[in-house]
Amino acid sequence: MTAPTPAPPPDAVLRDRAVIVTGGARGLGAAAAHAAAAAGARVLLTDLLEEEGRAVAGRIGDRARFLRHDVTSEDDWRAVVAHATAAFGRVDGLVNNAGISGGSHPVTEQTAADFRRVVDIDLTGVFLGLRTVVPALRGNGGGSIVNVSSAAGLMGLAGTAGYGAAKWGVRGLTKIAAVELAADRVRVNSVHPGMIRTPMTAHLGIPDGEGGYPATPMGRVGAPGEIADAVVFLLSDAAAYVTGAELAVDGGWTAGPAPRNPRQEDR
Ligand code: NAD
Repeated sequence: MTAPTPAPPPDAVLRDRAVIVTGGARGLGAAAAHAAAAAGARVLLTDLLEEEGRAVAGRIGDRARFLRHDVTSEDDWRAVVAHATAAFGRVDGLVNNAGISGGSHPVTEQTAADFRRVVDIDLTGVFLGLRTVVPALRGNGGGSIVNVSSAAGLMGLAGTAGYGAAKWGVRGLTKIAAVELAADRVRVNSVHPGMIRTPMTAHLGIPDGEGGYPATPMGRVGAPGEIADAVVFLLSDAAAYVTGAELAVDGGWTAGPAPRNPRQEDR
């Protein structure tokens, strides 16, 4: 039984917007779905993981729906748009979040099959989402698309041949779509999470809190909600003049290396 979701306040930034979030069954997608719903949106979350996805939708309440969806399938994408339109009467936003890491391999050791698989999900999946959802956004007079890339799409991160190539591709595709779709009032931006605690990164065993991740100037891993806040901003009218942008939410990881003496006491 799905709990009724309280009506959003009149000033909720995504009040009554209809938003699709892929990879919504866990991790960053689940956090984005929760945050968008808390900001007033109706949310269709999609994923391969049916049980987890239904559970997330159930926790959000009756403003959320779940649909099984493989982002590499054009048929599935058509079904997602049809489902969102039937459930909500419109589509205003898309969060292209679903992805896999594909593991860590030096470029000479990644197999062609693994490379193709990660590019198929992490890049072609985003392309198919754009292709399929844009007509619905145009039909409403505009909308917002947020593509979840990575810090690995802003720098050359060793061991990420397929993943990094896909995430750089997402960053480029975002700018191409932003330029092409601006006249249709469809904004397209990319978010670049750094190291965030989710099921994708849990096996790395990075400790929480200050000092847990010294690779970043802020010295810690991020929380899924910190990415979700950036996603909600880009979906909302607060970002009305923002398109083609790349928003790093990474504790400063891609800004530069952490200073050896962060407080510079002995300068
Ligand atoms: P996650 O593994 O916890 O969640 C990803 C979700 O995507 C899963 O629920 C999975 O089932 C789903 N998914 C995978 N393949 C799919 C497919 N073909 N069709 C539909 N759904 C599919 O990972 P996460 O950390 O929440 O990552 C979410 C996004 O953020 C990914 O694109 C990832 O590359 C990106 N990202 C994550 C981090 C991080 O540190 N966690 C950093 C940078 C970027």
